Amino acid sequence: MTAHAVEAHESESERERDREFAAVIGLEVHVQLETSTKVFCGCSTDSATEPNTNVCPTCLGLPGALPTLNEAAVEAALKLGKAIDADVPDRTRFHRKNYYYPDLPKNFQITQYDAPICADGALEVSVEGDSREIAITRAHLEEDPGSLAHARGGRRTSIDAAEYTLVDYNRAGVPLMEIVTEPDFRRPTEVRGFLSKLESVLEYLGIFDADRDGSLRVDANISMVPESEESDEGSIPSDVLETANRTEVKNISSHKGAEKALAYEVTRQRNALQRGREIEQETRHWDESRGVTVSMRTKEAEADYRYFAEADLPPLEVGDWAEEVEIPELPEARRERFEREHGLGREAASKLTSTKAVADFYENLTTEFDSDLAATWVADELLGELNYRDLTTEDVEGRLDEFRRLISLVADGEITEKNATTVLREMLDEGDDPDSIIEANGMGKADDDEVSAAVEATIEANPEAVADYENGEEGAINFLVGQVMQATGGSADPGSVNVMLRERLNG
Ligand code: ADP
Ligand code: ZN
Ligand code: MG
Repeated sequence: MTAHAVEAHESESERERDREFAAVIGLEVHVQLETSTKVFCGCSTDSATEPNTNVCPTCLGLPGALPTLNEAAVEAALKLGKAIDADVPDRTRFHRKNYYYPDLPKNFQITQYDAPICADGALEVSVEGDSREIAITRAHLEEDPGSLAHARGGRRTSIDAAEYTLVDYNRAGVPLMEIVTEPDFRRPTEVRGFLSKLESVLEYLGIFDADRDGSLRVDANISMVPESEESDEGSIPSDVLETANRTEVKNISSHKGAEKALAYEVTRQRNALQRGREIEQETRHWDESRGVTVSMRTKEAEADYRYFAEADLPPLEVGDWAEEVEIPELPEARRERFEREHGLGREAASKLTSTKAVADFYENLTTEFDSDLAATWVADELLGELNYRDLTTEDVEGRLDEFRRLISLVADGEITEKNATTVLREMLDEGDDPDSIIEANGMGKADDDEVSAAVEATIEANPEAVADYENGEEGAINFLVGQVMQATGGSADPGSVNVMLRERLNG
């Protein structure tokens, strides 16, 4: 090699190393469909019972027991199909996915393989004002396995520290929908946005309970491709996607967890690539408490599962059924209606329709209060304070009447907005109701006599500011308003104090 060639070679590998990478993410999301009984037997799906009490020969996989398909689970799947605008085939069927694991008593899982109940759907996600459509490759029905509890000395522990493992088949046979997306995500924040949107759609459909333990589980596939391959709209050529080595991160059970796990994985893969290392094609485990992903095993291929048709369940004709199924108003439509009917801006309307519970609460308030006032108090104040405390409306579900009372005190002018915010914070931090907080802190609105006395006292005590105002210094009035507000303990309305001061000083 000539000196010149060596130099060229070096600068190329340097360039290679500096090359920026774009993240590519695709999800496999398992959601539990809310039905009262399991998908292939009549056992209850109630999770509050003792281990191994919601079981029967079918979900325990005893010889000769036969599955019977639960109509409600199919109906739920069809509703989801409609909501994500998926294609539903005329005829769908079930397969056996074979593998051995203690939580799987039959040694196979009944799932769908070549004819999923939903295919080719999409969900629109907006993140920080940008809207993106995420394509959904397929969504199929399947049964959940049981659950394992690893234990040591009578306490739960991790699998590697365990002395023994207990198995509970209550969950075996609970209906799941596995939703597989195209690798359309470019950022972990989009994944979080997608999961919230999906959850909200499922809740609106009435087929999902976000509060149920394990009701949402996510496997996230992630690879890095050269940034130059990404088009302006974020699409990446299929040959690049196919050849990129990817990892599959398992054990993600929340929106926030998904964002964190993927942010970690983006950094890990980018660093490895920049140091010139290859990404191993492998399965990794998200360790929530340590905030890291760890290598579990090399990925198994579909062929390892020896799929074959489940002969105990006949093919299912769903074409007509899918046409007939009806779904309620979904978040998007409700947001548009809120904008139209209640004159809300897009952002407020989005916040107010993010969950069905919030939307119902807001809409209920609009029958009694001004819709702007209700929007401010729910979207900005309540949701803001909840978010700050890492709470959701579900955490305060039993207290909605107290919030309604607080809003009515504001609407009737019995408390200032400023004090109402203080009351709200105290309600959330101390758990008291608004009336007792107002009473204990003397936060009721000051009456007119009290306010005019405070105005007089303030004018008396601040001759300099008064003189400044009289000499045309507008800013001085704000100072005086502040003094009056202080004197009344924030119980006066700043707007009317302003007017009173001006009247008094001008007259
Ligand atoms: P497999 O057969 O390995 O399970 P699939 O084609 O079924 O692969 O895809 C599984 C998941 O992997 C899907 O969610 C898909 O979006 C995602 N995926 C495919 N290619 C990539 C890639 N290059 N980077 C990240 N995720 C990907
Ligand atoms: Zn059963
Ligand atoms: Mg797959």
